[in-house]
Amino acid sequence: MAARLLDGTAAALAIRAELAPRIADFTRRAGRQPGLGIVLVGDKADSQIYVTNKLKSAADEGIGATLSHLPADASLDQVLTLVRMLNADPATDGVLVQSPMPEALGSTAMQSIFDAIDPAKDVDGFTPVNVGRLVQNRADLVPCTPAGIIELLKRSAIDIAGKHAVVIGRSDIVGKPLATLLLHRHATVTVCHSRTVDLQEVAATADILIAAIGRPGMVRKSFVKPGATVIDVGINRVTDPAVARELLGDRSARYEGFVKRGSAVVGDVHREVADIAGALSPVPGGVGPLTIAMLMANTLRAAEMRLIDTIVDRR
Ligand code: NDP
Repeated sequence: MAARLLDGTAAALAIRAELAPRIADFTRRAGRQPGLGIVLVGDKADSQIYVTNKLKSAADEGIGATLSHLPADASLDQVLTLVRMLNADPATDGVLVQSPMPEALGSTAMQSIFDAIDPAKDVDGFTPVNVGRLVQNRADLVPCTPAGIIELLKRSAIDIAGKHAVVIGRSDIVGKPLATLLLHRHATVTVCHSRTVDLQEVAATADILIAAIGRPGMVRKSFVKPGATVIDVGINRVTDPAVARELLGDRSARYEGFVKRGSAVVGDVHREVADIAGALSPVPGGVGPLTIAMLMANTLRAAEMRLIDTIVDRR
């Protein structure tokens, strides 16, 4: 039996349609659009694509997004100065620094940057204050990809409470916050990583299996309990024709696209999983569009909270 496909594009469109009147209302009340300040350092092709998509979505949504682009050899001080300027700018409600940073800035650069972002403008939800609030189940700004996954489950009427959720991946941006959100929604959560023993057996006990690994097609049928819900978070660019044939199927339109372009984006979940899962969020068209929709939601939320604070301050 083929899995029900969880349509992230449709869910993202629905979320954005729900945001539209709130954005219009904010713009009327504040006399300006919600503002998102995006910082990009360097010229990494994938990061540029992500940033372009975020700017376009913001423009479509009536959010005023600006891009500050620093060269790849920018210093950490330059990045921090820019972040502080955005923190201080009254028309900027959200500050987002696109990761990863150029390696030359050192392995702790991203952490220093998150430490510098004003938690009230932290639309990625990565600052220590917002991570703490998330753990305490009182977050205002929740990391976008995990929040998008919860929205997808909710809007697809997939129960979380009482279910066994297995999250493969323990990063600060996906795995850990997602495990926390699932726990708050009363799932029994297992978090797996590269040192997990018997990963396949553990995964196969999941009612909800989430793959946030960054390894093309790693999750095979044998990882999946029949009927389980599988969420593929992975975004992996493949250029090897043999790998593309295996993961896309050599008769598919996507494989034809690979042949034309020389690369394709695939998830962490092998296509054979569709034969055994009950529901499956695919790549592309699953979690990706929701991540951007949740960024718009967080920007509006930050703007609304700041507007309320301004009104209270004026009293
Ligand atoms: P990270 O590289 O930060 O984390 C990967 C995690 O996978 C780590 O916890 C790692 O374990 C684990 N892992 C790696 N190899 C294995 C293995 N063989 N067996 C078990 N666990 C393994 O990646 P991110 O969390 O940032 O991203 C994960 C994927 O999601 C990537 O493909 C990324 O592009 C994608 N992504 C998609 C987004 C979207 O909008 N759709 C947004 C963000 C990310 P360990 O901790 O032990 O190293």
